[in-house]
Amino acid sequence: MIPCIDPKAQYLAYEEDIDAVIAGVLKEGRYILGEQVRLFEQEFAAFTGVAYCVGVGSGTEAIHVALKAAGVGAGDEVITVSHTAVATVAGIELTGAMPVLVDIEPGYYNMDPLKVEAAITPRTKAIVVVHLYGHPADVRAISAIARHHGIKLIEDCAQAHGASLDGKKVGAWGDVACFSFYPTKNLGAIGDGGAVVTNDPELARQCRQLREYGWDSKRVSVMQGWNSRLDELQAAILRVKLRGLDKDNASRRALAQAYGRQLAGLGIMLPSVKAGAEHVYHLYVVRTSGRDQLKEYLEQKGVMSMVHYAVPVHLMQVYQGRVQVPSPLLETERVVKEILSLPMYPQLSPEDIDKVTRIISEAKPNVKG
Ligand SMILES: *Cc1c(COP(=O)(O)O)cnc(C)c1O
Repeated sequence: MIPCIDPKAQYLAYEEDIDAVIAGVLKEGRYILGEQVRLFEQEFAAFTGVAYCVGVGSGTEAIHVALKAAGVGAGDEVITVSHTAVATVAGIELTGAMPVLVDIEPGYYNMDPLKVEAAITPRTKAIVVVHLYGHPADVRAISAIARHHGIKLIEDCAQAHGASLDGKKVGAWGDVACFSFYPTKNLGAIGDGGAVVTNDPELARQCRQLREYGWDSKRVSVMQGWNSRLDELQAAILRVKLRGLDKDNASRRALAQAYGRQLAGLGIMLPSVKAGAEHVYHLYVVRTSGRDQLKEYLEQKGVMSMVHYAVPVHLMQVYQGRVQVPSPLLETERVVKEILSLPMYPQLSPEDIDKVTRIISEAKPNVKG
């Protein structure tokens, strides 16, 4: 059996070092906001090419904290995409703001800058741009739009640790950026975790206060905060895995190239990479009109695949009336019927890729270019 994702394989690749740092934290006796979190924040800020990093409880919380620090709240509108993890929209909702969902660019699964421009109203306070699947969104165009209208740009980098555009990492383009360290992400903890990064010292200070009851340095609450902290164990594990992140992303790229070579000519639409973009293949997503049959066939042959995401947020029952959709999301609704995520994680072997691609070529899917 070949799983679609394999967080345990990622642990085993770093087993000795992870076990050692876990033992170290246990013996150190400081379990919340100690040395490991402080060092991880420094190292992750340096990796991303920004000045500040604030560890928080999850990726959803990172979005919540970042938006609150940017002054977003009830009565505001925040533009994002419907084709994303529901967590993006959940993070916006936690602030009390109204999510406004726009369509994606044909061919790239990311926010369409033209649709953003058209969705801006006097209430628009921020844009949350998602770098979906590990491919950078068009933050060149979108940051120009945000600047022009005087609204904040927040990046959701939960699937794109280490990705870059024109040599500048994602997370360094917006006013604030948010990361998740959910175990299956490119940089994954062994539990929940997240981070906010920024170059703005004032935003960083507010994020630090928001994550811990709004406390100042004397533990007096100076704003309404709550509890959303990254813990020492996760930070220590993340420091180990951060040292291997470039190598792990390089493995993902090599696997993606092998998929690309071996799936070429089968009539399946493969991921495209824009000029100037460095893709980190959090997911390897292909498109075919015979998606459901192909998924079923792969499963029969012992290959697990997944759909990210089968139902866009604006079509979920629970979100009816809780999000705004200013214009039809035609591309979003088209791609969700055809996308399929093939197995992808750094420890996948070339033989695994051979097996997956052989089964796909046997399946002779009813395909679409
Ligand atoms: C995983 C993910 C999140 C949320 O992260 P959690 O740590 O699970 O809260 C947010 N946005 C995107 C695009 C994600 O993939």
